[in-house]
Amino acid sequence: MTEVSVNVAGSSQDVPTVVVNGVDGASIRQIKALQRPISVAGVMEHALQHRERVGVQDFVLLEDFRSEAAFIDNLRKRFHENIIYTYIGNVLISVNPYKPLPIYTEEKTKLYYKKAFFEAPPHVFAIADNAYRSLVYEHREQCILISGESGSGKTEASKKVLEYIAARTNHLHNVETVKDKLLQSNPLLEAFGNAKTHRNDNSSRFGKYMDIQFNYEGAPEGGHILNYLLEKSRVVSQMSGERNFHIFYQLLAGADQGLLQHLKLEGRPEMYKYTTDNSPSIQKLNDAEQFRTVLEAMKVIEISESEQREIFEIVASVLHLGNVKFVQNEKGYAEILRDNNSIHVAELLKVDLTKLREALTSRTIDARGDVVNTPLDLEQAQYARDALAKAIYEKHFSWLVSRLNASLAPKDKDPRASVMGILDIYGFEIFPKNSFEQFCINFCNEKLQQLFIELTLKQEQEEYLREGIEWEPVDYFNNIVICDLIEARHQGIISILDDECLRPGDATDLSFLEKLSQKLDGHAHFKSHRKVDVKTQKLMGRDEFCLVHYAGEVTYNVNTFIEKNNDLLFRDMQNLMTSSGNNTVGCCFKDLNLLSKKRPETAITQFKISLNELIKILSSKEPSYIRCIKPNDFKMPMQFDEKLVSHQVKYLGLMENLRVRRAGFAYRRTYEAFLERYKCLSSDTWPNYRGQARDGVQKLVEALQYEQEEYRMGNTKVFIRFPKTLFETEDAFQIK
Ligand code: ADP
Ligand code: MG
Repeated sequence: MTEVSVNVAGSSQDVPTVVVNGVDGASIRQIKALQRPISVAGVMEHALQHRERVGVQDFVLLEDFRSEAAFIDNLRKRFHENIIYTYIGNVLISVNPYKPLPIYTEEKTKLYYKKAFFEAPPHVFAIADNAYRSLVYEHREQCILISGESGSGKTEASKKVLEYIAARTNHLHNVETVKDKLLQSNPLLEAFGNAKTHRNDNSSRFGKYMDIQFNYEGAPEGGHILNYLLEKSRVVSQMSGERNFHIFYQLLAGADQGLLQHLKLEGRPEMYKYTTDNSPSIQKLNDAEQFRTVLEAMKVIEISESEQREIFEIVASVLHLGNVKFVQNEKGYAEILRDNNSIHVAELLKVDLTKLREALTSRTIDARGDVVNTPLDLEQAQYARDALAKAIYEKHFSWLVSRLNASLAPKDKDPRASVMGILDIYGFEIFPKNSFEQFCINFCNEKLQQLFIELTLKQEQEEYLREGIEWEPVDYFNNIVICDLIEARHQGIISILDDECLRPGDATDLSFLEKLSQKLDGHAHFKSHRKVDVKTQKLMGRDEFCLVHYAGEVTYNVNTFIEKNNDLLFRDMQNLMTSSGNNTVGCCFKDLNLLSKKRPETAITQFKISLNELIKILSSKEPSYIRCIKPNDFKMPMQFDEKLVSHQVKYLGLMENLRVRRAGFAYRRTYEAFLERYKCLSSDTWPNYRGQARDGVQKLVEALQYEQEEYRMGNTKVFIRFPKTLFETEDAFQIK
């Protein structure tokens, strides 16, 4: 199962790849066609050397499939040969090359049209093509799930899927505008939802699920996007060396003088507290040019000029808001300095200036019917200001997504339409310090792992059933216990957190931790500082708890859990924003039902609800998986950090994945394909064979003396248990 470059002198990427050994579909004829004298022994030798050099293209073919070292070795070999893709069965593993590779050309794209996995080297296009065909020809709805840590190449992979689909459907008429819109949704969302971080210069700070809807002919006719957990804290502060969301810098660098004047902006990010630039040199990011791309995308999405203006008014208002300063008056309360910032904010958001200033420095509390206005102290006022900035930005982002959706919505309701989903969502996170955000993200990953288990095992089981082969149960770690630990009613962590948030009185992060420890004491996947053994005691602080996730242990610090989960925006602010004369702002805030006495759902509960909805959508579809790996922490090409990769192999559960895949029959092939390739190995099937493919394969495996344990004959496919068997057959084929 390896690809061989036919140009022995050239590098493996700039010449066409011909597959000579393994079941990749090529034959000796192709090698002979190279018109180089190659002896049979030479071919064998070449094939073996090649296998040695670039590894196997499907991990199920690894002899030592339990060894992580062998797994990583295979990845490394391929990576150094610029082969970034490898399969585990039908799961695609991708290692970020951090350099452009010539593997996405039109020619390469065509290579994957209507191909089965084994007919061409592993590729994201193969995943896309298979999903597309199952959708269009077999009417099974698809989803492509992409996971991996920040900077591992998820978003790039999702774009490649989209681009492939666009190219693949080129021959179909009338889809240009839809495809343009689908493709242009990316630069727009990235401008508002991505930022430069230490891990990735263009890091997505939100999770995204996108549905592409196809008509009965297989032409894309619309789409829909769901967004998850925008990292809104970034609006008001960033780690040193990181940046705020791209759009702020793009607007400042790219807007023309007229627009800047209207927005009361002066050209430099350093002037604004929220964009005070921490990183002196920003490579690769041409903000002004990107701004033009954003405007172009807005045009394609049909966002009108007046809407655009309102959008930029909102972005600018956030910048001005950040510069609003408070001083302490003689009574110890916050007052706004006489400056232009709050005036600009009020003007841009079209709200009453006095009311804005009041909302930033005081707060109305409804205490059992008595409405009391309390002034805020300095710290509270700053908190209120930042909370407003975050709320405006976050709600505006969601509004933008719904605006995109309105534009992407198919023109007519088509009952025969079917859907392919693409999920590009944050992978498992373990940092030196983990907070509420990591808790949410890791919870999400537990749920996706649960789905993975259900779907892949279900898929295996269904294939065995379809093929009439006896199902052999595989034992595996089912992480449902961890999902329950987090989300079970009453006793789950989320429930305990919400109870604490809603409890009147003096709930604190520490009282929450205390409740956790009381209620979850003794759970196999929960540890608190009270329960740790003497040896590890030092590792856990008094404000920490530890969860044993499927991917490993993570220690969370409870600091700010309550505040982040409550996610309070003072009522006065909300009232003020709904009164805005900027239509977009009005829209963003209007869904809040201010009259309702009912408290809005907490942040984690909202997340849980939307996550469970997502899981429901995904479970109804047939999944394909792309697991992305980051080879090093420096965004550098050709550097393969084994330790780093090993961590990710663990977090992504790849060894377990491989084990499950290997527990049954590692290899399967339709009778036709198997016979076509190996028929020359038996005089029963060569040179002439006219019978059924299945009978031919039966004759073949008997001639090859396969043991009964080694294979099964399904309804349409032959199943082979051990890769070794296959390799031997293949080698026999090579010699022949
Ligand atoms: P993630 O979404 O997982 O955080 P990205 O998809 O944004 O990561 O990738 C980070 C960067 O890595 C990209 O901006 C690009 O420079 C590089 N990269 C990712 N995938 C590829 C690829 N297939 N080929 C070349 N470069 C890539
Ligand atoms: Mg991303």
